Amino acid sequence: MNKQFLAEIEKGSKNALIKKKIINHYIYNGNSTITDLSKEIDLSVPTVTKLIGEMCEEGFINDYGKLETSGGRHPNLYGLNPGSGYFIGVDIKQFAVNIGLINFKGDMVELKMNIPYIFENTIESLNKLCQLILNFIKKSPIDKEKILNINMNISGRVNPESGYSYSIFYFEERPLAEILSEKLSYKVTIDNDTRAMTYGEYMVGGVNSEKDIIFVNISWGLGIGIIIDGKVYTGKSGFSGEFGHVSTYDNEIICHCGKKGCLETEASGLAMHRMLIERIKGGASSILSELVLKEENLTLDDIIAAVIKEDMLCIDIVEEVGQKLGKQIAGLINIFNP
Ligand SMILES: [Zn+2]
Repeated sequence: MNKQFLAEIEKGSKNALIKKKIINHYIYNGNSTITDLSKEIDLSVPTVTKLIGEMCEEGFINDYGKLETSGGRHPNLYGLNPGSGYFIGVDIKQFAVNIGLINFKGDMVELKMNIPYIFENTIESLNKLCQLILNFIKKSPIDKEKILNINMNISGRVNPESGYSYSIFYFEERPLAEILSEKLSYKVTIDNDTRAMTYGEYMVGGVNSEKDIIFVNISWGLGIGIIIDGKVYTGKSGFSGEFGHVSTYDNEIICHCGKKGCLETEASGLAMHRMLIERIKGGASSILSELVLKEENLTLDDIIAAVIKEDMLCIDIVEEVGQKLGKQIAGLINIFNP
């Protein structure tokens, strides 16, 4: 029945679109009475009553019983049925994958963090990722038929509307979302990782109902997510927020995008990583010297842990990168007034 409803929405039938609006309303505002809902979505009480009745039968909406009011009438409260559908979110890191399963109300049902995985921009790496997702689904405690969508967070240039990823996993002239849907046998959508994080913070994070937000994601790379008046700003082709690739420096460091002098070459986790290795190999000392000289895997967590232990070299590097980043963020504030 769920799949039939999704198909209706895709066809764009008028009732399905109103039902989508009702679901959206409940996601953002929680349970409400039919009278309040009618006012909020600007439709007549009889229309909303009819649609809510249908949605209860379809299983998406629950009747949560009488609302306790001081007045004489006690209207019923309606809201989303948490078990009517599930969504999976996949977040790809350099050395791990995080996978979460949420119910129809957005509550986390299952979360597996730091599943070992080495990201490489190859078909083998993509297949391995699919295998990890399928394993996660296999072990999840829910009815697999009720998984409505899997969203994957991808770094770089991603068009969430067309499903194309241009920076990574771009092996054939077809949307990555379509390829993944085939491989996983579920509907798959993709979005830029920073944008998805921005939306997550906006929905459940610490933004205190602010509606104009710049979210700065500094890990290996550097990107921003932009929310303007409560809406995620994707840009015309979905490429907004590539802050790390603004040409900023007159250096000779080649960025992974292929250009020289990108902001990311001097203000990102990758930059800190490179600077630390260069300086240790150039004779500077740090508690990470041994790790670096033995050419073992150095993670950003190692660098931050060293800062906490008051390692002077790591403190200097983080400070230097912080100064550069701060200057550029000040520029963003002038442009966006977030
Ligand atoms: Zn670049």
